[in-house]
Amino acid sequence: MNGFNEYIPLVGQEVVDQLYRLADHLKDRRFVHINSTRTGGGVAEILNRAVPLLSQLGLDTKWEVIFGDPDFFDVTKAMHNGLQGDKVKFTAAMTSHYREINRENAKRFNWEADFVLVHDPQPAALIEDMRPQAQHWVWRCHIDASRPQLPVWKYLRHFVKQYDASVFSMSKFAQNLPHPQFLIHPSIDPLSDKNRELTPQEVQAVLDRLEIERDRPIILQVSRFDSFKDPLGVIQAFKMVRRHTPCQLLLVGGEATDDPEGPEIFARVEEAAAGEPDIKLLLLPPDSHYEVNALQRAADVIVQKSIREGFGLTVTEAMWKGNPVIGGAVGGIVLQLRDYHTGFLVHSPEGCAFRIRYLLHRPEMAKRMGKLAREFVRSHFLITRHIRDYLSLMIFIENPGSRIIEL
Ligand code: UDP
Repeated sequence: MNGFNEYIPLVGQEVVDQLYRLADHLKDRRFVHINSTRTGGGVAEILNRAVPLLSQLGLDTKWEVIFGDPDFFDVTKAMHNGLQGDKVKFTAAMTSHYREINRENAKRFNWEADFVLVHDPQPAALIEDMRPQAQHWVWRCHIDASRPQLPVWKYLRHFVKQYDASVFSMSKFAQNLPHPQFLIHPSIDPLSDKNRELTPQEVQAVLDRLEIERDRPIILQVSRFDSFKDPLGVIQAFKMVRRHTPCQLLLVGGEATDDPEGPEIFARVEEAAAGEPDIKLLLLPPDSHYEVNALQRAADVIVQKSIREGFGLTVTEAMWKGNPVIGGAVGGIVLQLRDYHTGFLVHSPEGCAFRIRYLLHRPEMAKRMGKLAREFVRSHFLITRHIRDYLSLMIFIENPGSRIIEL
């Protein structure tokens, strides 16, 4: 794991000093993070890096993962989809199974924590059985909850309102809740295998290994195979572009253990890509960070054509590598992409095709936008800022009602 000094050349001495100053107020606090998967998806990606960094700052930080059977993950995926606005079946049998698995999980844990940060809906009900095991409970919502299906949100709200605070990724997602709500943007770690610098030789070696030719421009989307990531829309856009411009499409995805819909969506994508030699679907193991890094560096145009998105770490990752990104104008993507500056926001496959062509034909402009994109990420979306926000949140929660907190 990288030491904090290694971040200084990227973010400056003052940013790192400030983290130590904040952490001084929280020495030896026991901080538990809990979610539902150790691999796959943005939450696991962040926890993998944030947990060791918080420990280095002197907080006794643990990361726990709940277990669940396939039925449980079907229920929580329905909750996820419902919170993101899809009409879903949500029955009493489903909620009863959700409660039961959370109860079972509660029996396995025995904490004496100062802070628990519960990520997303899967473990949200733990608080009912475990409240005395931590001083402060905070719920962190990583998904686009701007227009939830009411039955799903009403059910989940019953648990969330028992927390001391909640955290959302943008103000649009905030809810009517009886406790303080905080806005904290996700982040990437510039020193992780996913994001660290690679040499052109390293990039080329990955392309060779994955048998990807560079004879035509590469258009890339990296995402779980999930309908909200709209892989079918990307294929549609790609086919429009390729009519006029030779290019190839790479759809890179992997599985997340808490996402049961992947295989079904993948099958639909395979069908749409059948007989298209210029479309390559790559299912990579969940620890392929280095490979994803290389592909994001090799791509000529990076797309994240989501139709709902909590934040979209793949956008941040691509921007950090100096790419302007073409993204769906939804959720957290709109926090990251500014038209003609750091990328383009699109609303349809046609719009996406138009912007892919636009960037393919203006490599110099793409390069200039890519530089802006990288600087935008440096100022807003690196992990040092995220850790600072978590530390500030804890200090705030420990000092309720204080008008002035001396740091
Ligand atoms: N990811 C990956 N391999 C894949 C697909 C995704 O490593 O095949 C990573 C991706 O690089 C990013 C995270 O998983 O770090 C996805 O986070 P994002 O916020 O974009 O979407 P989520 O899956 O959380 O909805």
